[in-house]
Amino acid sequence: MLIAVIPGDGIGPEIMSASLEVLSSIGFFPEYVYLSVGLDKWKRENIAISEDDLDVLKRADAILKAPITTPPSMRNSFSSVTLTIRKELELYANIRPLQSFPISPFKDINIVIIRENTEGLYSGVETFNGKTATTKRIITKKASERIVNFAFQYALNNWRKKITCVHKANIMKMTCGLFKEVFLEVAEKYPEINSDELLVDNCAFQMVSNPENLDVLLTTNMFGDILSDLGAALIGSLGLLGSINIGEKSILFEPVHGTAPDIVGKNIANPTGMIIASTYMLDFFGVKKGEKIRKTINKLFGNRLDLTKDLGGKATTKDFVRTLINLMDN
Ligand code: ATP
Repeated sequence: MLIAVIPGDGIGPEIMSASLEVLSSIGFFPEYVYLSVGLDKWKRENIAISEDDLDVLKRADAILKAPITTPPSMRNSFSSVTLTIRKELELYANIRPLQSFPISPFKDINIVIIRENTEGLYSGVETFNGKTATTKRIITKKASERIVNFAFQYALNNWRKKITCVHKANIMKMTCGLFKEVFLEVAEKYPEINSDELLVDNCAFQMVSNPENLDVLLTTNMFGDILSDLGAALIGSLGLLGSINIGEKSILFEPVHGTAPDIVGKNIANPTGMIIASTYMLDFFGVKKGEKIRKTINKLFGNRLDLTKDLGGKATTKDFVRTLINLMDN
């Protein structure tokens, strides 16, 4: 089993080493290949990810990835490595489970966000003529059908009862209109799953005011990105969520958050999201201990042991991992 590991930028290497330590502690020893892609590679080689890197990623049985910096400057920069990987490997579905922990400000949240991952406002097609900057919002029927069918299959396989299509078709009548139309068509093939729709702004409101009414949220690329950060706030921190990116031939596991440049090198990053992402990888390979790790994280939070700064505690990243591993051994 070959796993490509991307330690990434910012807090990436800190949370990746925490996550790999937890995987070793449960006796998971696959073959790892490490890829240094992102900001450092760009500074060294003027390229952030190469064709060879992409080939390795395509050959791997799974990819475990930490966040990678995307410099915001328009000039003298590189385009997002994360988006390049998603596009090149056609990782079209991004699954972001939101489940409350005992320390979460909002209890009993059990929502899954499924986000179309390859087009929409993150299509990367942009122009600037010196006066006007334009981003193309591309929504295709093909990609919409693929993600909507995926979402219904996911709901069936995971005992989910309802899918809500989240859009803004009243304003973006063409792009969101197409996404919604495809959703309504495909929904007819799955009478056993309830389906409804919400405008994205109302969805943000409902996530805070009535989250218990929400089950699977299916949406386009940027809306999914924004709503999952809102979801992270309901759960308690951006550092708590893991995610899965699925394509026909590849699968990639990563935390939801970014590189957190404000806390790099301080040993205070919360590694939970990265660890949770790696437990989803264990599930994918049929390794039962993923569930055990998640239960132990719940126990750790339930007893308010060694919380990191983002959760109001004083523990370092290393303290957190040591306590987690000790708790699993007991
Ligand atoms: P991106 O645009 O790359 O997705 P972002 O804008 O979502 O990034 P983050 O890098 O995720 O931003 O950071 C947002 C805030 O959340 C920062 O204050 C950061 O310190 C905090 N944060 C993110 N991840 C963690 C973590 N694992 N542990 C502690 N704090 C975190």
